[in-house]
Amino acid sequence: MNILFCIMIFIMGTVFGSFFTLAVYRIPLGLNITYERSFCPNCNHKLGFKDLIPILSYMSLRRKM
Ligand SMILES: [Zn+2]
Repeated sequence: MNILFCIMIFIMGTVFGSFFTLAVYRIPLGLNITYERSFCPNCNHKLGFKDLIPILSYMSLRRKM
């Protein structure tokens, strides 16, 4: 299989995984899953663009979730 295709599938997997994690967290709390920006549940800080990239943001935030 083409390596570029594998990388694309991996990136799509991280994006969908990130979204489904958001949905699993927000739906039981009755929060909006489409319009509201991502935020820190501890301090309600709205996440910036670089904080929204799966895996890279996790590493740049030093594995704080
Ligand atoms: Zn916070």
